[in-house]
Parts: sequence; structure tokens; C-alpha cells
Amino acid sequence: MTNTANSSAIACQVISVDALSPGISKVVLRPDQTTDYSAGQYLQLVLSAEDKRPFSIASIASSKLLELHIGTPAGDSWSSAALTHIEQQFRAGMPVMAEIGLGQAQLRQESTRPVILMAGGTGFSYVYAIAQALSAANASQPVFLYWGVRHEDALYYLPQLQQWASQHKQFRFVPVVQQPGANWQGRNGLVHEAVLADFVSLEAYDIYIAGPFAMAGVAREAFTEQGAHREHMFADAFAYI
Ligand SMILES: Cc1cc2nc3c(=O)[nH]c(=O)nc-3n(C[C@H](O)[C@H](O)[C@H](O)COP(=O)(O)OP(=O)(O)OC[C@H]3O[C@@H](n4cnc5c(N)ncnc54)[C@H](O)[C@@H]3O)c2cc1C
Repeated sequence: MTNTANSSAIACQVISVDALSPGISKVVLRPDQTTDYSAGQYLQLVLSAEDKRPFSIASIASSKLLELHIGTPAGDSWSSAALTHIEQQFRAGMPVMAEIGLGQAQLRQESTRPVILMAGGTGFSYVYAIAQALSAANASQPVFLYWGVRHEDALYYLPQLQQWASQHKQFRFVPVVQQPGANWQGRNGLVHEAVLADFVSLEAYDIYIAGPFAMAGVAREAFTEQGAHREHMFADAFAYI
């Protein structure tokens, strides 16, 4: 499941912890040594030798800093324990330990097929890194980024993505809100259903998926029925379901 070649833990200084939206935090880390990873890979935050928690890396390797988006929904202890650990180390001026550059769902740089990036919630972190890498490589194929959230206040990078789409004609951004408020003007429903509605066939596409495991599983089946090839669908969640 994971790429163990890169799995020794590295000390990372906590540079900042900021709220992105209610229940979602942006964490910026600076590794104490040079790290190499591919867009779309994740790190494991080491809480103890037995307790390591995966978070997608929202940044790309050229940035030198690691950006994470950590969702802590009410009642969730899995990610809130990780965030609490990061905040404690930050306050104490101590580093956190992380295994960096894990996973098999990274961007296939060599592919020239059109790309669909589909995120549910904080799965956005993963697709954001891939979108940045495609942009940095001046990739010319069409890129469609679908971001599904329950409520529109979770679209924490909405202005950046809208601006990006307005500046790159091959880049299309489609936010999809599951339970929209009265003022929401965009698409609604489940994000994978928006993808299914927009593409008669998914046969030609490389499809990158991150978000709740249930979403990844439903999407894999539905996309396959709509022509997607399993070898062209990428998600680290597939290793868990
Ligand atoms: C390798 C790896 C990396 C991870 N990285 C991160 C990370 O960077 N940050 C983090 O916080 N957690 C991470 N996790 C944990 C986990 O994947 C996330 O907690 C999860 O994706 C968070 O979803 P959410 O609560 O934001 O989405 P939700 O708010 O639950 O859902 C968002 C949207 O997803 C779709 N969706 C949700 N459920 C379904 C369903 N049952 N059927 C169809 N569509 C559905 C809908 O469109 C919905 O609006 C990671 C886990 C792994 C294994």
C-alpha cells in the first residue's frame, strides 16, 4: 500500500497552524532536511511508534514547506488528536516527526491524457497538489477539478480556484455542495454524481480521487460502469476499502 522506500521519519518544524474554515486547519511544516516526494503523495504524522496518521501533502516539493489541511469534525478523535499534537509541539517550539512521500496515487507525470481530479472534503489537499504540479509543468491537457463538500463554508480555497480557472483555459473548476444554503448558485448533490452527469464516457481520462472512503468506493464502481479504466483511476483510499 505505502511506498516504504521513503519511510524514515524526519523532524519538521511547525511554522503555522491556522483555521481555513470551521473545523478545518491549515498546517505548515518545514522539514529539517531536504525531502523528495511526488504531487499527490501523503505523509504520516508520527504520534508514537505504533500510531501514525496519514495526511495528504497539499504542497509540491519545489515549495520546500509542507502544507496540510486537517479536518476535525465534531466528535472525530482521529484527526483532532493529530492536530492537538501539532499544536502542542508548536507551542513548545518542538518539531513533529513525519514520514514523507508515501502512497501510490501520485500524479502520473508522463501521461498526456485529460485529467479529472475529484475531491470530497479535505481530500481537496491531494487534488490541489496535483493541480499545482500540472500547472508547474505547463501541462496542456484539459484538467477538471471537482470539489464536493457538505456545506459551502468548507470550500476554503474557492477564490484561489476560481481565479486559477479564469487564468488557465484548459483548467475547469466545479465546486459541488451537498446541502447548499439558499444563496448557493452552483452545483449541488454528491460530487461523483456531478462527474457522472458531465461526462458521457470516462474512458479517455486519468482520474484522481481523494476523500471519504465511502465516496472513493462508490465512485470507483460508478466510474468503471461509465467507461473509466481501473488502471487509470488513482486513490490511496482504494488500499483501505
Ligand atoms: C492516505 C490518506 C490521506 C488522508 N489525508 C487527509 C488529509 O489530508 N486531511 C484530513 O483531514 N484527513 C485525511 N485523511 C482522512 C480521511 O480521508 C478524511 O478524513 C476524509 O477524506 C475527510 O472527509 P470529509 O469529512 O472532509 O468529507 P465529507 O464532508 O464527509 O464529504 C465531502 C463530500 O464527499 C462526498 N461523500 C461523502 N460521503 C459520501 C458517500 N458515502 N457516498 C458518496 N459521496 C460521499 C460528498 O460529495 C460530500 O459532500 C486521509 C486518509 C488517508 C488514508
